[in-house]
Amino acid sequence: MARTVPNRVAEEPVIEKSLAEKLVVLAVVVIPFLGTIVAIVMLWNQWVNWVDLTLMLVLYIISGLGITVGFHRLLTHKSFETTWWMKRLMLISGSMALEGDPITWASTHIQHHAHSDGEDDPHSPLEGLWHAHVGWMFNHKHKIDVYGTWLKKDPDVVWVAKTWVLWVAVGLIIPTLIAGWSGLLWGGLVRIFLTHHITWSVNSICHTFGRRDYQTRDASRNNFLVGLLAFGEGWHNNHHAFPRSAFHGLRWWQIDFSAYLIRGLERVGLVWNVVRVKETDLQRRVIPATADGMGD
Ligand SMILES: [Zn+2]
Ligand SMILES: [Zn+2]
Repeated sequence: MARTVPNRVAEEPVIEKSLAEKLVVLAVVVIPFLGTIVAIVMLWNQWVNWVDLTLMLVLYIISGLGITVGFHRLLTHKSFETTWWMKRLMLISGSMALEGDPITWASTHIQHHAHSDGEDDPHSPLEGLWHAHVGWMFNHKHKIDVYGTWLKKDPDVVWVAKTWVLWVAVGLIIPTLIAGWSGLLWGGLVRIFLTHHITWSVNSICHTFGRRDYQTRDASRNNFLVGLLAFGEGWHNNHHAFPRSAFHGLRWWQIDFSAYLIRGLERVGLVWNVVRVKETDLQRRVIPATADGMGD
């Protein structure tokens, strides 16, 4: 599979993050990881119970769907419309995942779609799998003024972005109040660790391992396991081929929990104008069995 690596001679000078900024990213990456190590050690000593695990699962689902349905499909791709309070609720849920405020998250993701696996892609695995997974965050300067100006005009989005730290804290305080320190560990740090690495797997694994079913200009792939764990986001080749589709699973067997939630909310009238792809449009982009479907 031949890929053209863009010419880097004409590249703009790279503005590096300051040491303080890099240390903040390091803390965000490492603290949940250390928490997970502590949790495993504690598990060895049986310092975990069903309340802790239930908190972890419930908060993983709430914050994960906040990212996939709220940050990604609603905010970034406008795949459906909803009420102002539902939008705020979804963005608050996503904020608890500690993946940045909604304006930063969405503008980085728009940049990814605009330059997928090209020179200005913030997290392409063409620069290495580790770079795509975690490394990019240490140097990537968010270009909100280029990719996120329209987000700053939405009062609901601005409100959640301004109060973002509060929602991160709420996501940590709730499990602590319910189950004490072990609740903070499992419902907070372990849950954030899992959400981080599963979200980041969409950037790393789903541009490296899996099937390509539809023609796109990037290396995006469909990966069943990431699809399952990341609530449908692992059907990433489908997503790059049809970015506005509210459903990333495009076949009945492509499990997509985010799509099921959107469909359910649509049925009760809380969500409308849900973007669907016509079968004829799907067929037009299908990759013949002998080709890899990567454009230039
Ligand atoms: Zn992608
Ligand atoms: Zn996207």
